Amino acid sequence: MSRRMSRGQRQSAFEALAAAMYEELEDWYDEHPEASFEEVEAQAREKRRTLMGAGLALLVNGRDSGYALEGQPCAQCGREMAYKGQGFGKTIHGLEGDTRLERAYYVCPACGETLFPPG
Ligand SMILES: [Zn+2]
Repeated sequence: MSRRMSRGQRQSAFEALAAAMYEELEDWYDEHPEASFEEVEAQAREKRRTLMGAGLALLVNGRDSGYALEGQPCAQCGREMAYKGQGFGKTIHGLEGDTRLERAYYVCPACGETLFPPG
C-alpha cells in the first residue's frame, strides 16, 4: 500500500476498488441469473466488507503513517533515527471490514534502537 498519497490519488484508488467490486457483482449475477434478491444481497455484503476494509486502508495508510517523525533522536544514544519504511502493521477487524494498518518504522544507525510511532 502506498503511503502519503494525495487526496485525489486516494479517491481514484478507492473508485478503482469500487468499480472492480461492481464488476464482480455483474459477473456473478450473469452467472446466477435466477438468484433471488437476498442472494444478490449476500454477495454484495461480503464484497462490501472487502471493499470497505481496503478503502479504509487507503484512507488511513495513504494519509499518514508517522513519516513526519523522521529526524527524531534515538531514545538511547541521541543519534537521528533512520526511516526504514513501512511495516509491522496490524490488522483491524472492524465493523466495516478488515483493514491492514501500516506504521512507519525507524532504526538508530548507531545502536540499533527501534522506534514505532504510536498510531
Ligand atoms: Zn541510538
